[in-house]
Amino acid sequence: MKSLFAAFAVSLFPLYAAAHDHATAHYIGNEGVMVERGDTKILFDAFYAESYGQYALVPSDISDAMTSGAAPFDGVDAIFISHVHGDHFSPEPAIAYMRAQTDVVMFAPEQVRDSLLEAGVDTGDPLMARVHAFALEPGDTGKTISHGAIDIDVVSVPHAGNRPHIQNYAWRVTLDEDTTVVHLGDADTAISNFSRHQAHFDAKTTNTAFPPYWFVGDDNGELILSDIIKAKQTIGIHVPKRAAGNGDQWRARFGGDLFTDPGETRAIAD
Ligand SMILES: [Zn+2]
Ligand SMILES: [Zn+2]
Repeated sequence: MKSLFAAFAVSLFPLYAAAHDHATAHYIGNEGVMVERGDTKILFDAFYAESYGQYALVPSDISDAMTSGAAPFDGVDAIFISHVHGDHFSPEPAIAYMRAQTDVVMFAPEQVRDSLLEAGVDTGDPLMARVHAFALEPGDTGKTISHGAIDIDVVSVPHAGNRPHIQNYAWRVTLDEDTTVVHLGDADTAISNFSRHQAHFDAKTTNTAFPPYWFVGDDNGELILSDIIKAKQTIGIHVPKRAAGNGDQWRARFGGDLFTDPGETRAIAD
């Protein structure tokens, strides 16, 4: 009996250890998401001040915990900004966060860097050395960047609603060479915007895609997710705040998973 138990325990241990390494997505609000894999943590679109009357702002308990670095927001490695619109990025909360968490770096479109400078941050401010921003056109080949335990591949995908002057980036981030997620910002569902980047999307297996909710249940949006990005899991974001408390109804109506209530979490698919 003893030896049987020992064999059982030994065979179970690696499974248990693996389970501990599973990655988790935490919903912040609107398109704000934290992805956590062990000690490696990243934030997307988590610092913004505009609700435009219909989108969820970051609840104060979450924004306070992020700024003070309280669990689960301790030890964040990098923050990513999809685009400069006020329901995704505002200079003030982003600057406050970067000043409070001095090890965190930002990856963003050039327009976000411009916005930080316009808000009064000096080009010589040490904060700006932690802002990695660049211009990328929708037709440009993707850009690849490494930062510690994070590998980044980014392409530009046009913003929904014909706003060609807005730099909207689809950040694909791999944590610990294991967990890969893609955040689409406010991407449009035109298939050609994604099919032109087929080689980029084929280069890595995506565990979880975070598209705006207008992809979920939409013919073109679903085709992009299943045939081009080929994500194992999709969680729609940017859901209007009136969905909070009614997530199950909204998920049923859209026929897919959606984040609706800031603070909710999902296990990232293996
Ligand atoms: Zn937008
Ligand atoms: Zn938006």
